[in-house]
This record gives sequence, structure tokens and C-alpha cells, in this order.
Amino acid sequence: MSFGPRLRTRGGATLRKRWTRVVSTLRRPHKCPRCSAMKVRRISVGIWRCRKCGFTFAGGAYQPQTKLGKLAAR
Ligand SMILES: [Zn+2]
Repeated sequence: MSFGPRLRTRGGATLRKRWTRVVSTLRRPHKCPRCSAMKVRRISVGIWRCRKCGFTFAGGAYQPQTKLGKLAAR
């Protein structure tokens, strides 16, 4: 995957790449902060729910925990 500088037009490829990563992050199950099960799914923008223990919490729009949240949890 090596593109010449001439093929890089207006960051379109970069945006698509980033979106692919966001979608794959969304579809992957996440770890529950309460019971540690990999059962957390996004039910709405910024709202996440664990399908094992039913724990619902607010998080990032695309990830259950933002970097700030991880720092606070330490
Ligand atoms: Zn849970």
C-alpha cells in the first residue's frame, strides 16, 4: 500500500480509513467496567450496555471509555 503524493486527493482516503476503524470499533464487543465481561454493546450514541449484567453507562460516542475515563479509573 504505497500511494504517490499525486494520488492523495483532499484526504478522502484518510477519512475513509478512519471511518473503517470507527465502524470496526463499534462492532467489536467491549469490556464491561462492572463485571469485566466482553458483552458491552453500544445502544445509542454515547450509551453503552452490558448484556450480561445489564449495566448501562455513558461513554464516548465510538468507544465505551474515553482516555480521560481510563485515567480516572486508575
Ligand atoms: Zn457487565
